[in-house]
Amino acid sequence: MNTERNIRTKTAILEKIKEYDTIVIARHQRPDGDAIGSSHGLAHILRLTYPQKRIIVANNDNSEYLAFLETEETDPDSIDYTNALGIVVDTAGLDRVANPNITKSKELIKIDHHINVTPFGDLEWVEDDISSICEMIADFQYTFRDELKCDRRAATLLYTGMVTDSGRFKYAETNGNTLRRAGYLLDFGIDMQRLYANIYLEDFNYFKFQANVFDKMQITPNGVAYVYVDKAMQELFHLSREQASNSVEFMNKIKGSLIWLAFIDNPDGSIRVRLRSRFVTVDRLANKYGGGGHSNASGATVHSTQEMQALISDADKLLADYKANNTGWL
Ligand code: AMP
Repeated sequence: MNTERNIRTKTAILEKIKEYDTIVIARHQRPDGDAIGSSHGLAHILRLTYPQKRIIVANNDNSEYLAFLETEETDPDSIDYTNALGIVVDTAGLDRVANPNITKSKELIKIDHHINVTPFGDLEWVEDDISSICEMIADFQYTFRDELKCDRRAATLLYTGMVTDSGRFKYAETNGNTLRRAGYLLDFGIDMQRLYANIYLEDFNYFKFQANVFDKMQITPNGVAYVYVDKAMQELFHLSREQASNSVEFMNKIKGSLIWLAFIDNPDGSIRVRLRSRFVTVDRLANKYGGGGHSNASGATVHSTQEMQALISDADKLLADYKANNTGWL
């Protein structure tokens, strides 16, 4: 961060923001804390700083569990994009954007922290070693703090994305800058008890689901843990798609299991795959199945249980190979 190139890019983004009266912000589908926090956090900073500008966050979907933060009411189809600046955050490729209309904007900016496989936009700020977009937006505001305003609301939005996307500051990308930015945001007076309660408390039923995942999960000979949250399991525990998808997090503490996978039935018959790992990288494995993401957190889609088995078997080979050629893993 704050290399000469990084400063040049951020300055160019600020100049574009100043230039436009209408700014539309979009993020990826099925938003998580980082997508909601960064899109609304940036919007809030811009509204505070430039009350005369029209700052719109417009996307086709919402997140139930993040509704305590923000929900989106603007219909993406109702906006005139002709003279707007579009900003897409936390979205590697336009195929995953929750507002495809954003490409009609006069100019488009990409702000992302995924590996930049599919560049897009007139201006890009991509840093794939930063743990969250919210950290990037916090850095953006801090860099231009004489110009850009921040308050408790913006800080809470950004902190939410930082804490969720870094696994409570646990993932490998967490570094000194992450904690400095988090500390900077905390000084705005975030209500931590309320925020953590909103993010992490679960219903009793959800713990029963967790117990069921522990019961059903399996492990391959070389240590890939996996679970299939099929339609029946989703119905039995009355799960939202988000809750079903969270099953991947239940398997992240198994010694020697450096890769863990959750397969979740989608309503359209396809199966969502969530890949997680430590030490070993899984994004290329995700690429093979039409997905992508980060080295230790990727996503993909398979279309049958046979394809699911093939992916598990590929993951097992990948892990066998990693273990044979590396030491010091746990
Ligand atoms: P998920 O398990 O869906 O949360 O995905 C983990 C990471 O991989 C996220 O940062 C996603 O943005 C990314 N990702 C998920 N699915 C895909 C996909 N089909 N193509 C590219 N990146 C993806």
